[in-house]
Amino acid sequence: MQEKDCLFCRIIRGEIPSSKVYEDEYVYAFLDIAPSFAGHTLVVPKNHYENILDIDVNEASHIFATIQKIAPAIMKATGAEGFHVLQNNNEVAGQTVFHTHFHIIPRKAGDGMTLWTPTPYESDKKRDEMARKIQVEIH
Ligand code: AMP
Ligand code: ZN
Repeated sequence: MQEKDCLFCRIIRGEIPSSKVYEDEYVYAFLDIAPSFAGHTLVVPKNHYENILDIDVNEASHIFATIQKIAPAIMKATGAEGFHVLQNNNEVAGQTVFHTHFHIIPRKAGDGMTLWTPTPYESDKKRDEMARKIQVEIH
């Protein structure tokens, strides 16, 4: 995807309208058009990166600082008691816009949202085997 045609690059450039929540030199935050709940916000680096693996680490750090700044405001404005920070990588994980972004989703008691169904390992041995398989791939 070229930056010219990227949906979020176009939103950042103001070519497509958005409901802006916050903006600075490196980051743009705006309301998701199809939210889980009202106040669901997307935090996006102004530079185009496809996913969390290729974003510049200093810009990623700035995104975390931005989340710390605006998540309390989202909770206050929506009356939420908590929130998720969600981030999808690749189509199979639900990524639909290939300009990396972080979802801030406000949560209230009894709102009914579920994220995943826990599925335990067959045994402690199987769990340890999986940990080792991952360890040997870390370089
Ligand atoms: P993801 O599925 O993690 O890639 O998230 C992409 C998000 O972008 C979805 O939650 C969409 O609802 C949201 N979205 C798509 N188009 C727009 C738009 N024009 N303005 C605001 N949010 C959008
Ligand atoms: Zn982009």
